[in-house]
Amino acid sequence: MQNNIYFGTAGIPNNSKKKSSECGIEAVRENNLDAMELEFVRGVRTSHKKAVILNEKSQENKILLSCHCPYYINLNSKEEEKIISSRKRIIDSANVLNIAGGKNVVFHAGFYLDNTVEESLLKTVKNLKIIREELDSNNMEHIILRPELTGKSSQIGSEEDLLFMCLKIERTLPCIDFSHYLARYNSKKDFEELFIFLNKNLPDFFKDAHCHLSGIDFGEKGEIKHLNLLESVIDYKKIIDLMVKYKVNGTVICESPSLENDAKILKDYYVKTVKGLKG
Ligand SMILES: [Zn+2]
Repeated sequence: MQNNIYFGTAGIPNNSKKKSSECGIEAVRENNLDAMELEFVRGVRTSHKKAVILNEKSQENKILLSCHCPYYINLNSKEEEKIISSRKRIIDSANVLNIAGGKNVVFHAGFYLDNTVEESLLKTVKNLKIIREELDSNNMEHIILRPELTGKSSQIGSEEDLLFMCLKIERTLPCIDFSHYLARYNSKKDFEELFIFLNKNLPDFFKDAHCHLSGIDFGEKGEIKHLNLLESVIDYKKIIDLMVKYKVNGTVICESPSLENDAKILKDYYVKTVKGLKG
């Protein structure tokens, strides 16, 4: 089986003529990329009308859309109010993405706070179930919930956490952020370990993967900030080689500051690798 990976940017490319998502979609195509993640990280403010335009633009330009939910989400909060607003942020994001014609809804599930991992996961799963039911009863069965592999050890989102959630909730698959994996474990874990873990426990992921890959700076507590690929220690070539080896199909979104430039570096390397042209 041949693998097929679409590469794209987290948000509007830097060289887009205008800072609007519509123009961003055209810029993604002009950059010879294939995907764009709508960044709702500071709130979901896209109108129904605009989402319909994004749908038309993405079809015209053959661009896959996904979305990143607001950062302000904690499905393990102690305050019921914050849980309700966290669920709403995910549902609102899914709603806009659905109108725009996308399916992958990426989010950071929350923080452990002073709970154990197990307590945190039970509460998170309970809330994700409510979200799933709400989506399904509003004709959004095809939306895939994508809890993300997170970059700090205080955040819910180790690969084991994600597996727990994905096995408990239907149509939930992880968003594997390779840069976060490097940062979370202070580069102490090998990337192939992650591929072996996913292949063994969640083989469906490789048929429909959603990933983030960028340069990253990290310290003792994990992620510090995103960097451009060539300024970071991340071995993106090794990661792409593994994606080819494990026959991954899906999307890779680049969150480096240089967005489209790094996304193109990744795509170029991938294309050369599958064609067996790399030197
Ligand atoms: Zn993220």
